[in-house]
Amino acid sequence: MQGDDHGVLRMTPEAMRRLARKATEALIDRADGLSDERPWDGDFREVLAGRLAAPPPERGKPAEEVLDQALRDVLPYAARLDHPRFFGFVPSAPTWPGVVADYLAAGFNINSCTWLMSSGTGQLELVVVDWMRSWIGYPETAGGLLTSGGSGASVEALVAAREAAGHPERPAVYMSDQSHSALKRAALIAGVRREHIRLVPSGDDFRMDMAELRRYVADDRADGLRPIAVCANAGTAGTGAIDPLAPMSDFCEREGVWLHVDAAYGGFALVTEGGKELLDGIERADSIGMDAHKWLFQPYEAGALMVKDVKHLENAFGIANDVLQDTVWGANHPNFADRGLQLSRAARALKIWMSVQTFGMAAIRAAVEKGLELARRAEAYIEANPILELMTPVSLGIVCFRVNPGDGRDEESLDDVNRIVLARVFWDDLAFFSSTSLKGVFSLRMCIINHTTTWEDVRTTLDLVARLGREALAGE
Ligand SMILES: *Cc1c(COP(=O)(O)O)cnc(C)c1O
Repeated sequence: MQGDDHGVLRMTPEAMRRLARKATEALIDRADGLSDERPWDGDFREVLAGRLAAPPPERGKPAEEVLDQALRDVLPYAARLDHPRFFGFVPSAPTWPGVVADYLAAGFNINSCTWLMSSGTGQLELVVVDWMRSWIGYPETAGGLLTSGGSGASVEALVAAREAAGHPERPAVYMSDQSHSALKRAALIAGVRREHIRLVPSGDDFRMDMAELRRYVADDRADGLRPIAVCANAGTAGTGAIDPLAPMSDFCEREGVWLHVDAAYGGFALVTEGGKELLDGIERADSIGMDAHKWLFQPYEAGALMVKDVKHLENAFGIANDVLQDTVWGANHPNFADRGLQLSRAARALKIWMSVQTFGMAAIRAAVEKGLELARRAEAYIEANPILELMTPVSLGIVCFRVNPGDGRDEESLDDVNRIVLARVFWDDLAFFSSTSLKGVFSLRMCIINHTTTWEDVRTTLDLVARLGREALAGE
């Protein structure tokens, strides 16, 4: 190199510090002022394209100017999923050590694919996976890996199930009609034909109907299909319902079929006493997907797939590659790339480990418990309010309810009122929540799992719904 010993894509240490400091200040200001912000912002493509659509510039500009534009024109146009009154879908409120861990992992340029590439984070992944093993109550044979999220974990689980079944020609997969779209997509990716992805009816409690499951499996076997997996929910994204885990395990054991539990959002309730009771029997499943970017307070992406016998993952995903021959260290030094679909992988264990080390499990348990408790208080509020109706029993932090004064209105007009209320909540900017359809009935839905949410946040949101509900009922 001549003269310039930094290279064309490098910055001086001083410029690096200036940029990083500015980014850090912006993040801390955001976190500090979050409760006073709107919980959601976004704009139409036309507007954003007007500011952002442009060919890549031939010459660069000062990094801080670029950062300013990202902070002004890009990053604010998003759901603030960590806002204390963001109750839509499944929110996420990452801890600061988790955020810093992702920054470190990017800066250290860790590729957590093989032991040779990164033994430090490989060891941490073993540690974190072992924590999860103990929270579940899985045996020593169990293991797993961190994934992009619940979708990735579902794909890997169903591929492992397919391989464990001997990769049959006509596979079928079973799940309830309440299961997440991610599982259907995963079954398709695993090679199951659309018409062989069986959506078993759930009962009025939104849990898998066991008699229906037995009937579907028996009928399919008679038609020459090969059941490769049954998927249970713990809980469903819609209502938080938990499928009958013990009867499903009994059934799958008898049938010799893999049982996968989708615990993407509900799984980390396992760290609490109450959650462990609710999810009793989960330890009998062959595999479990759970998202640390939901109820373990991590930044995206942080999912996990746990398998009762980790050999199944390596049987399904371990494929020799001449270019990687130097990375084979032997059984005690696992290459996580051989357990799932990614080779190059982010060091996801670092964020989980750093936030658990920083706060301790007592604080994390209390944070999960708080979500469960706030949802129960919301339930009590709704039951005490004459114009609100609880749609399903509160489960794992999810509250389904609607405006219904019980004055004999038909379902259609109740749907209309509640759609109006949802739209007005949206435009009010106090809180964000979303809706769902409960067997065709429109329902408002709150998911309360953010560790920064207070009862005041929940109460003012419900007060708002009640006020908007009264106005909508009066035709205002
Ligand atoms: C979030 C969620 C998924 C999908 O997980 P991603 O992390 O978004 O890929 C699947 N199932 C349930 C129940 C979920 O809550």
